[in-house]
Amino acid sequence: MNFFTDLADFFLPRLCASCKTKLVADENVVCYHCLKKIQRVDSSRIAIQYLRKFQETAIISDFYALYLFEKEKEVQRIIHQLKYNHRFHIGKFLGENLGRAISEVIQPWQIDMIIPVPLHHLKKADRGYNQSFYITKGLNNILHIPVNQRIIKRKRFTQSQTNLDMKEREQNIKNAFALRRDSKIKGKNILLVDDVVTTGATVRECGRLLLDKGANKIYVAAVAIAD
Ligand SMILES: [Zn+2]
Repeated sequence: MNFFTDLADFFLPRLCASCKTKLVADENVVCYHCLKKIQRVDSSRIAIQYLRKFQETAIISDFYALYLFEKEKEVQRIIHQLKYNHRFHIGKFLGENLGRAISEVIQPWQIDMIIPVPLHHLKKADRGYNQSFYITKGLNNILHIPVNQRIIKRKRFTQSQTNLDMKEREQNIKNAFALRRDSKIKGKNILLVDDVVTTGATVRECGRLLLDKGANKIYVAAVAIAD
């Protein structure tokens, strides 16, 4: 690509976030081989997922996801690197990809503000950062819509959602969040951003709070969706 990238790669090889092979100069974060294997989510799958996860409660006006989340596959490995290994540039990379894919879809949504779904403060203290915030930074690079990560905070420790079914997740997440008192969200269309949407319980709960406090419409964008 250019001399400096080549030189940097020689001394400090960049590795694929999924398979760990050395990236060549024009590859970024994920090698072409892995990138080819990642499944994009098409609009009919998004429509089905919306029906399944969001339609009944009518909190989320519309939603978009970029990749299909499959266990033990590329997307899971890449997001794991972002979540647990401080690979912040992966968040930016994923957010920029998401931003390019969503840029036309969200035209009619008229988004005023992007909010990353927050981590619980204990989890954040433990890990030191919220991976979704880095995704929203990448999104902002493409969409130029302001990001605000201060509006929603988690107030109660929620246990890991991994082994819970839909009902249990709903209970687990209930009242886990609060809005900061000075949040200026009245009449605003807000895009909530998460790395992976599984049941949608977390974004629904955040959305409910924002609507209660006067937000106009809530939309959701995720890097990946799990069935
Ligand atoms: Zn790879």
